Amino acid sequence: MPTATDVREQVVELAREFARDKIEPFAAEWDRTSHFPRDVIDELGKLGFLGMCTPEEYDGMGLDTVTYLMVLEEISAADSALAVSIGIHNAIPTTMLVRHGTREQKERWLKPMARGELLAGFALSEAEAGSDAASLRSQAIKDGKHWVLNGAKAWATNAGTADLMMIMVRTDTPNARRGAKGISTFIVPTDSKGYKAAKPEDKMGLRASNTAGIELNDLRLPADQMLGEEGMGFVYAMEGLDSGRLGIGAQGVGIARKALELSLMYCAERKQFGKAIADFQAVQFKLADMATRIEAARALAQRAAARKDAGEDITLYASMAKLFASETAMWVTTQAIQLFGGYGYMRDFPVEKLFRDAKVTEIYEGTSEIQRIVISRSLSKG
Ligand SMILES: Cc1cc2nc3c(=O)[nH]c(=O)nc-3n(C[C@H](O)[C@H](O)[C@H](O)COP(=O)(O)OP(=O)(O)OC[C@H]3O[C@@H](n4cnc5c(N)ncnc54)[C@H](O)[C@@H]3O)c2cc1C
Repeated sequence: MPTATDVREQVVELAREFARDKIEPFAAEWDRTSHFPRDVIDELGKLGFLGMCTPEEYDGMGLDTVTYLMVLEEISAADSALAVSIGIHNAIPTTMLVRHGTREQKERWLKPMARGELLAGFALSEAEAGSDAASLRSQAIKDGKHWVLNGAKAWATNAGTADLMMIMVRTDTPNARRGAKGISTFIVPTDSKGYKAAKPEDKMGLRASNTAGIELNDLRLPADQMLGEEGMGFVYAMEGLDSGRLGIGAQGVGIARKALELSLMYCAERKQFGKAIADFQAVQFKLADMATRIEAARALAQRAAARKDAGEDITLYASMAKLFASETAMWVTTQAIQLFGGYGYMRDFPVEKLFRDAKVTEIYEGTSEIQRIVISRSLSKG
């Protein structure tokens, strides 16, 4: 009988090999052509990586969160665009369904998601409602045994490539607005009449991931496609984001780790003034600081994951992990470009992509400013 440690080692090794052989060699090309590699995601799905933390009774791998983060780090180090597509699927829609889905919803949506047959995403943001997501305006109106959704969502990962999206819309009425308590979550198959993903955004980084707006035009859903209770959608979204932010932490660590690995190799090879630049103490200190910050970011994320596995409330710790890891990714990739000198600024060298990919980790799933608000609020509550 394999121990939990054996399982962790095997799963992480499988992810590392997959990332090395089937992701990393193609990542630069996918980035250049903005190609979303659905076939590779499907292969990851067949190996169980779309149901990493889904309990085994729902066809998932039932991994602990620490192992999940180790896998995401491996995939992010190879291509964080791909990591975010599967990270969102695993963290947010999956968590929502595991916690709040009915038995029928789990059979119909969660199990195929865990088996890798369906890819999911999550749409909370709107053009006018980003950090202040509770001010979203898309609306669902009850019509007998159905809900009819209208509105527009912005920047949803996987919106144009997923099979289903968890969509947050208002279910309160214009004359009785209830703020965050007026929002509900719907399970929306992307082939529903009235669902239209916009043209994918032309992004600075994560160019192989699909990010798009969604138009909701008289999209009619049976009432049993509402998730959980009416008016609880914002709470479910925030719960999902706690898990999501841990994943962004692992993503930041993966990007930073790859930038360090490439920098170590480059500095050993690149010669100036008759010796390898790695022999200069200023360069050595930079590498030392990069390695130290990465280690700290990984420890913070894994400690938050361990708290989640122990059943603790992780809102504070997920924000700390996401904040620190994303700022580490940005700082480390900036140092990497500096170490590569002029070559670092060229598209031909992979640190340039890592730098572009790192930036968004400070923005999505709550900007760094929003993480600081969450942390300071939690501190002031004691
Ligand atoms: C690549 C990508 C993928 C995404 N994927 C998804 C997805 O899958 N699903 C989804 O729902 N959304 C997604 N988003 C949206 C993302 O979550 C938002 O962009 C993010 O929450 C910030 O919102 P905003 O862009 O409207 O910025 P704004 O909220 O307008 O913020 C602008 C600036 O103001 C600052 N600011 C705002 N409020 C405060 C405050 N109270 N105090 C201090 N500073 C403040 C912010 O920190 C930021 O610096 C994605 C975005 C990107 C770029």
